[in-house]
Amino acid sequence: MHLFSYVDGSLHCEGVKLDEIADRFGTPAYVYSANTIRENYRRLDTALAPLDHLVCFAVKANSNLAVLQILARLGSGFDIVSGGELFRVLKAGARADRCTFAGVGKTREEIAYALREGVYSFNVESEGELERINEVAGSLGMKAPIAIRVNPNVDAKTHKFISTGKSKNKFGIGLDRAPEVYKVAASLAHLKIRGIQTHIGSQILEAAPFAEAAQKLADLVKQIHAEHGLEFFDFGGGIGIVYDEALKSGSPDWWLAQKPGTRITPEDYAAAIIPILKPLGLRILFEPGRFLVGNAGALLSTVQYVKETPAKTFTIVDAAMNDLIRPALYEGWHEIVPLTESAGAIKPMDVVGPVCESGDFFAQDRELPPLHPGDRLAILSSGAYGFVMSSNYNSRPLLPEVLVDGTEIHLARSRQTHDDLVRGEALLPV
Ligand SMILES: *Cc1c(COP(=O)(O)O)cnc(C)c1O
Repeated sequence: MHLFSYVDGSLHCEGVKLDEIADRFGTPAYVYSANTIRENYRRLDTALAPLDHLVCFAVKANSNLAVLQILARLGSGFDIVSGGELFRVLKAGARADRCTFAGVGKTREEIAYALREGVYSFNVESEGELERINEVAGSLGMKAPIAIRVNPNVDAKTHKFISTGKSKNKFGIGLDRAPEVYKVAASLAHLKIRGIQTHIGSQILEAAPFAEAAQKLADLVKQIHAEHGLEFFDFGGGIGIVYDEALKSGSPDWWLAQKPGTRITPEDYAAAIIPILKPLGLRILFEPGRFLVGNAGALLSTVQYVKETPAKTFTIVDAAMNDLIRPALYEGWHEIVPLTESAGAIKPMDVVGPVCESGDFFAQDRELPPLHPGDRLAILSSGAYGFVMSSNYNSRPLLPEVLVDGTEIHLARSRQTHDDLVRGEALLPV
């Protein structure tokens, strides 16, 4: 669900007209809806209520401090993948003992930092990592809480770059080897076995792969629990969102009307897994990223030029692939709408940025109303894997992030300046 809609022909985020944000902060700029995030969190949390559970927001999806604060205040835990994410989460006022630390390449420094802060669990991806965590914990005179990530070899039916639960992916430990690896963990003096974890991929729009993963792991979880005593089963993230048709129906719950296989609701998700997970009698952790924040964000941009060629119409905007890389990286599809509702006849065009790469596009052959230099657009559903993946490529300053909460506007991050671009660089001596 989301709270972007036209009011009197002008696109609004909650109670704020997006033109007002563009006037105040310029474009391109990211805008987030606080109440969309809250509503998504509550809806998922409610659907999962039959389980003893903790939602741990996957910080990598959107790590803005204000966004993390919103979730921390709702009682969310956090799934972090680096020391930098732990630093952000603590700055946002969250508790380390509600954080899980994932990732295949944790360094000694990151492990020591997370141990000192008291994270709830390290989600471990290899035996080498178990040994390293044991060693670092020993050197600090501590015991490290761990869970092992198990790869159930399930096809998440999603884009190949965001599928993680197949045997050929780099993540986790195979189902067959897990019992042995738990034995290794149990033999290491400075580890405390606390849980088991899995995550099969991202942008999953069907309940079946989740049910399949839960089913494939249930017996293993029982076995490991009997042998070593577990506190939790962390079921990962991956709930998909609807990227298209966002505004057409005019209903905030437009996505409920989508065809099966093209959308998943928190209730579908919960219904598929609760019967399998509840009998395990463990605390169940969830790590949603995209679901909580994806539809809560929009990237505002202004048309610079309209270039007609014999083959195509190119609408050149001031945002670029360095600001939102999903179309180039994952063939990600985003709905694009003008800030001022238009009744003009639609025609196909490519919406592209100014960066010197053919991959710098937001849409190709998209049917849109006529657009002219100066017109403003919103690229919807860019709250997840948007700003966080942006870069300074082409020496373009990072964008502002603006949080809307009802009728309030909070500048959650200011636009970088040209000085910011060269901060930390040093000219050669004369
Ligand atoms: C990326 C990731 C998530 C979040 O995925 P979403 O699709 O955004 O929900 C959760 N857990 C792990 C281990 C991840 O790598």
